[in-house]
Amino acid sequence: MSQREPSFRESVDIMFNRAVALMDLAPGIEEKIRVCNATYTVRFGVRLRGEMKTFTGYRSVHSEHMEPVKGGIRFATSVNQNEVEALAALMTYKCALVETPFGGSKGGLCVDPREWDEHEMEQITRRFAYELCKRDLIHPSQNVPAPDMGTGEREMAWIADQYRRMNTTDINANACVTGKPAHAGGIQGRVEATGRGVQYALREFFRHPDDVRAAGLDGSLDGKKVIVQGLGNVGYHAAKFLKEEDGSLVTGIIERDGGVFDPDGIDVEAVHHWIVKHGGVKGYPTGTYVENGTLLLEQDCDILIPAALEGVINLENAARIKAPLIIEAANGPVTAGADEILREKGVVIIPDMYANAGGVTVSYFEWVKNLSHIRFGRMQRRQEEARHELIVRELERLDESMGDRWSLNGNFKERYLRGADELELVRSGLDDTMRTAYQSMSNVWHERSDVEDLRTAAYLVSIDRVAQSYTAKGL
Ligand code: GLU
Repeated sequence: MSQREPSFRESVDIMFNRAVALMDLAPGIEEKIRVCNATYTVRFGVRLRGEMKTFTGYRSVHSEHMEPVKGGIRFATSVNQNEVEALAALMTYKCALVETPFGGSKGGLCVDPREWDEHEMEQITRRFAYELCKRDLIHPSQNVPAPDMGTGEREMAWIADQYRRMNTTDINANACVTGKPAHAGGIQGRVEATGRGVQYALREFFRHPDDVRAAGLDGSLDGKKVIVQGLGNVGYHAAKFLKEEDGSLVTGIIERDGGVFDPDGIDVEAVHHWIVKHGGVKGYPTGTYVENGTLLLEQDCDILIPAALEGVINLENAARIKAPLIIEAANGPVTAGADEILREKGVVIIPDMYANAGGVTVSYFEWVKNLSHIRFGRMQRRQEEARHELIVRELERLDESMGDRWSLNGNFKERYLRGADELELVRSGLDDTMRTAYQSMSNVWHERSDVEDLRTAAYLVSIDRVAQSYTAKGL
């Protein structure tokens, strides 16, 4: 291979620079936006299994044009400063694109969560949270983490509790972190949010026939062959919803220990259970098991969903990718070099900063809920139902007077009367966000002849918004 693969951080910058070259930004502002404002590294010890273990963690703040800054905390042995900074930069662009009023940040801890039991993980997480809280790197108005790879509701609940212990009089303490369990200040629909966002993104894409044609596809999501890499929280929910609600055919699932392929369609729920029980896909009784799972990335399919790690589609395999449409459910799954190869091949890529923004969007709803100290819909729901009742009563009168000529549909009354609960409101807000953001990105793609792809269009929209925010402040 003659071309060198750029690092994740370089990849993000290359994509950023491509977009900036098409913009007319005030001097100096381009660099101000591109660079990471600060990255804090912490090394701390925890006494575990009779000895002192030292852990290394990071919290990087990319842009503070809006505060708080927002972004997940990742637990993995592969965590490093370069990765955390790249992910923090992507958070800035992501938040700007979907109009969540945050700057970008990201955190990571070098730890393998499978190596430690629950009690040990709690000690490690609380200790890391302590270091970050102490420096306002976890704070409801300054820096609000969330789940990412290797973390979930459990870790967020520990972090929130740790912050509360250190800030006993902060009435907004719950808003210091999002992705908490529903019974501990969380919001309905946060766990599924990123996967749900991927589904809404694809639905919106398929509402744009010109865009669908650009990928060489036609029709709807129904019957489309999908290969998903990573059946973690994001990949699992995306694949499940596409299969169960949109009629897509999941033909391939790639996991750490290999992949499963079945042209007739895979039962996502069954594979998920198998993974939970056996730790991987190996031995799954139906379909074909492929030991080198990444080969399945190169299989024929309509939609490829990389939902695991960064850099999985790279200079080495990009030319062999057959999918005409890739949706980046993970952050940075396509390297800058691969992006170029795929663009030349005419592959349409729905970029990460849009495709996986469902998580931070619902995090935003959770944060607002925490700050307002009231569940969404609590004030309006019954009042809405009462107003609907008036209409239903009138319709029922009509129903009676019309005899056999007209009647109310079976469960119309029940369905119409029911006011929206929190989950429905969250889904509606997420759907609206994903549609609006897609339109802003797609408009730029179509209106500007110098913009070749959705990723560049997404960067243009985001960078412009961040630049406007800096300019308004006089920076
Ligand atoms: N970790 C997720 C992401 O990469 C969610 C971030 C958040 O909710 O703040 O977008």
